[in-house]
Amino acid sequence: MLLVGIVKTNASMSRVPVVAAPAGRQHGPYHLHFGRYHPALSSPSHARAAKDQIVASLYQWGTVMRAVRFETGGVVKIVQIPDPRPGPEEVLVQVHAAGVCRTDLHLLDQVKASERKPLVPGHEIAGRVSKIGADVYATNVGDRVVVHFEQPCGQCRQCRRMRTNLCEKGHSLGFDAPGGYAEFVVAKQNTVLPLPPNLDPAMGAPLGCSGATAYRSVVALGHADEDDLVVVIGAGGVGLSAIQIARVQGARVLAVDPREEARKAALDSGAQSAAPPQEAESAAKDLAANEGVDLVIDLVGTRATFDLGRSSGSEDDSSPWLRARNLCR
Ligand SMILES: [Zn+2]
Ligand SMILES: [Zn+2]
Repeated sequence: MLLVGIVKTNASMSRVPVVAAPAGRQHGPYHLHFGRYHPALSSPSHARAAKDQIVASLYQWGTVMRAVRFETGGVVKIVQIPDPRPGPEEVLVQVHAAGVCRTDLHLLDQVKASERKPLVPGHEIAGRVSKIGADVYATNVGDRVVVHFEQPCGQCRQCRRMRTNLCEKGHSLGFDAPGGYAEFVVAKQNTVLPLPPNLDPAMGAPLGCSGATAYRSVVALGHADEDDLVVVIGAGGVGLSAIQIARVQGARVLAVDPREEARKAALDSGAQSAAPPQEAESAAKDLAANEGVDLVIDLVGTRATFDLGRSSGSEDDSSPWLRARNLCR
């Protein structure tokens, strides 16, 4: 048997192309490690030519990697696809951890309903830079990084105004570009951040989604500051990140969530107070001491939570209103 393929040598995922012909089995059918058996290849004369062609195309193609893909019909499949190659300003990241977000379940539903094309999901990614493009200066091979899934164009009106989450021409890893449920992922150099050495990649990966979404809400847009009172409506993944970030900013936090376990998690994450929606207003007044709420972050986004956010404000109803980008709830 002649084996032509790519094998993963060990858990470190280093790869070597393999062309092996064990003694005494020179004329059997070919088995492509990642391809389909082809009857025409059973003839030795054809086989040699085909082998050369396959090996040549392999080297032209590069190597392949494993990835999880949401397929038509809602099937989740492990597939082998060509290794991605970084462009001049991109890096290739070997994925060490990729979070499973509720958004991924929505994407799977959309693929199942044929509302979205098959895709390699995964937008919460941490790993190690394994290759860099010719013009990359911000990171080096070997760096441990968290990848932010948004890949803005950097040129459109929104990008020029630093509103890269609203980019009109970019793409997003795990949505309309291959994501982190794969051995490797390609990202722009300015979308990877150093992962602190003491932080487990599995802990760091979700920061690229819930952490970044919460940071933008609390700090970039909300300008939460020392002694501010911040109300976080919805203590899910993004909400718990928002609470921790607000606390780091020196703000006080009231978390609002109907679920008892979510309120407990909010308190464990540093919130001064946690209340169900029907008690939110009085809880806010207790903490605000007639000074009003400085910032309300609604991570649920319903009419009811919008009204609740408004009612949590100061007497003149001038409290800032902020709703995080409706991507991950
Ligand atoms: Zn997410
Ligand atoms: Zn843009």
